Amino acid sequence: MPTAQSGILSLRGVGPAMAEKLERVGIRSTTDLLFHLPLRYEDRTRVTPIGQAKVGQSVVLEGEVINVQVTFGRRRSLLAHLKDPSGVIGLRFYHFSRAQQANLEQAGHIRCYGEVRRGAAGMEIYHPEYSSGTSHLEETLTPVYPTTEGLTQQRMRSLVARALDQAGKQLEELLPGQVPGIVEAIHQVHRPSPDDDVEALLDGTHPAQQRLAFEELVAHHTSLRLVREEVSRLAAYPLNPPGEKTTALLAQLGFDLTDAQRRVAAEIASDMQHDLPMLRLLQGDVGSGKTVIAALAAVNAVENGLQAAIMAPTEILAEQHFINFSNWLTPLGISTSFLSGKVKGKRRQQELSLIESGSAGVVVGTHALFQQDVRFNRLGLVIIDEQHRFGVHQRLALREKGEDGNTLPHQLVMTATPIPRTLTMSLYADMDCSIIDELPPGRTPIATSVLPDARRDEIVERVRDACHGGAQAYWVCTLIEESEVIESQAAEATATLLAEALEGLSVGLVHGRMTAAQKADVMQSFKGGDIDLLVATTVIEVGVDVPNASLMIIENAERLGLAQLHQLRGRVGRGSRESYCLLLYRPPLGQTSRLRLNVMRETSDGFRIAEEDLRIRGPGEILGIRQSGSLNFRIAELVRDNHMLPAVKATSEQLLATDRPRAQKLLQRWLVSPEKLSQV
Ligand code: ADP
Ligand code: MG
Repeated sequence: MPTAQSGILSLRGVGPAMAEKLERVGIRSTTDLLFHLPLRYEDRTRVTPIGQAKVGQSVVLEGEVINVQVTFGRRRSLLAHLKDPSGVIGLRFYHFSRAQQANLEQAGHIRCYGEVRRGAAGMEIYHPEYSSGTSHLEETLTPVYPTTEGLTQQRMRSLVARALDQAGKQLEELLPGQVPGIVEAIHQVHRPSPDDDVEALLDGTHPAQQRLAFEELVAHHTSLRLVREEVSRLAAYPLNPPGEKTTALLAQLGFDLTDAQRRVAAEIASDMQHDLPMLRLLQGDVGSGKTVIAALAAVNAVENGLQAAIMAPTEILAEQHFINFSNWLTPLGISTSFLSGKVKGKRRQQELSLIESGSAGVVVGTHALFQQDVRFNRLGLVIIDEQHRFGVHQRLALREKGEDGNTLPHQLVMTATPIPRTLTMSLYADMDCSIIDELPPGRTPIATSVLPDARRDEIVERVRDACHGGAQAYWVCTLIEESEVIESQAAEATATLLAEALEGLSVGLVHGRMTAAQKADVMQSFKGGDIDLLVATTVIEVGVDVPNASLMIIENAERLGLAQLHQLRGRVGRGSRESYCLLLYRPPLGQTSRLRLNVMRETSDGFRIAEEDLRIRGPGEILGIRQSGSLNFRIAELVRDNHMLPAVKATSEQLLATDRPRAQKLLQRWLVSPEKLSQV
């Protein structure tokens, strides 16, 4: 009989192949499965006549399956049609087996669920969930889980259900006295019952959700306190103030630092002169010039005979940093090493020995920097770019890369996600904060318009004109899908359509399912000007710098958080060209969405945008907006749950004072495993 703590293999129906897939979403035990919480819920109680289905809607359809065939377009796919008295719609599968094909051919009457898209041949649903007959789909809210390739929602749901049946009752209560209890709360979020408060569930304000959010926040807060505690027990190498090499770097930059940059550089340098490890968060809007601040800190470490490591969340960004750092540092006689998952075999060995011997003064890379075989030589400073993709655990892992058990590298964490000041304290309780609140001079503001997507043709013309004029453009496809597969497929379809519409222009595509090498290739071609229009999913979100790109179109803008829109928009306006951002929405636009998009039109100040987002967004609006710009909580939502923070702090303090083993259990339960984060 499996218990809540068992490895996932002990769960009936889970073999090694399934275990591997689950591991990709951070699930290694039955408990992990129980705490794999729904991202959102779908209301599938109503069936829509096919004739009334609209692009962009997620709908339940019912009808007869006809015309099942394999088609050979850009990619092989299985296409079936679903027909009811009101109309016909395509059901398309890019991954399918012969058995599935046979099954569909004989399916007859089915019920299916999915998001309607504009496909190659009219309206289509990609990879719909379906079941024969009419009985299967439940009459309550359907939870939607984070998944990974090869793991369908249906499968994930049945695994969670199995875990609930087998181990859900044995969950240990780690916060006694909370109502509802953990067992009840977990059951309610996974299996809402028909008489639950639907509105509250959709808003995330149901008592079960609130209880879980509270527990998650306590776990988060406790981990921050532990980090702080540990840091204060350890020493760091105290640095001398910035010297000659720093002066040389400043002299060769070709620009003067802004006042804000000067201020934060001084704050950092002053921290590092202490023998206490620095733990500082550097917040600065997109384009505010954080990279050079990182370089200054790194040079200061190297001047003191120490190594500095810079870690970026993606391969593309790591490479971009590597190029910048090598350009800046080589003339100073500082050598820069690069390490990522892509660096393999002999080259990897070479880089590793350069790092270990200390020949490399600065090491740039991805999370590959954490791996066991990476040995640093007097690592004095760790810089982490784009914090929201990394978790506390990763920070802990890097700490172990210090010289011995007693010293810690100084740590600088950089983020472009503007966080409303009211939230900074609760989120980063363990950190000092520096803010770059000024952009370098000479930036032309980005003219932003909000348009209904019915004006697509006109917008395509605009892209054509811009590209013929020598500019480059981004077209960002966004879905609220939990699956990267579907998002990537939608981007592929869009790229195909746009390439047809824009004959003579070169259209590129980058999405999350491409390998890091493929992505980097495409980005390189875009940077080099070989691609005019880059169709992308939100993978281009962070940090990518292509100064000649001056037009950005964002589809379904109303579905994204303002922080994320702001991040995306920051990809343009980086050069001397006048830049434009077109936010497309699918009408009708609700009042709140209208207000939110207007904020984007009115300001490009990231902090103001964050504050307005916080002010405007009612809890009801949160559903369907992917909050990937904020920290990766499973269920907590800082804006919504901010009121809990005093209680969170008190509970965490008490827990640490009275029962450390229980605190550890809490961290184990809630904190994302390093493996999961290494997926980024
Ligand atoms: P971010 O804060 O988004 O990481 P970057 O560090 O990439 O911003 O800087 C954006 C661009 O601005 C880079 O091309 C960088 O060289 C340039 N830059 C940085 N600081 C200044 C400055 N003080 N004056 C002019 N340009 C600057
Ligand atoms: Mg950056």
